[in-house]
Amino acid sequence: MATLFTKIINGEIPGDIVYQDDYVVAFRDITPVAPTHVLIVPRAEIPGLATLPDEGDHLHILNAAKKIAELEGLTDGYRLVINQGEDAGQTVPHLHAHLIGGRKLSWPPG
Ligand code: AMP
Repeated sequence: MATLFTKIINGEIPGDIVYQDDYVVAFRDITPVAPTHVLIVPRAEIPGLATLPDEGDHLHILNAAKKIAELEGLTDGYRLVINQGEDAGQTVPHLHAHLIGGRKLSWPPG
């Protein structure tokens, strides 16, 4: 069965898409934690970091993040986060990176 994010990628569920290429689709998080909060999702349905194949769409996440940060005007910095599994609070079992910016970000994360 298609994941929630695949349904957004395929247009079956609405999503505020800000960037897409042959490998990834990026859309705004429905519950943003910062002025910019974009999810970068590989088109391939990889459940998460723990099951990452050696090759594939996910290799393009970093380059997409750089491009989206430029599109969003995040000249003062930003953060890229991937939650893996229960302890990290992963809720959607389709690999995705959170691109967060537009405000000062504290460290360490909770
Ligand atoms: P994670 O907790 O790392 O698995 O992140 C999942 C993210 O997906 C959360 O930040 C949610 O707010 C976000 N999310 C859930 N449903 C949607 C949706 N329909 N459109 C956009 N973002 C969503």
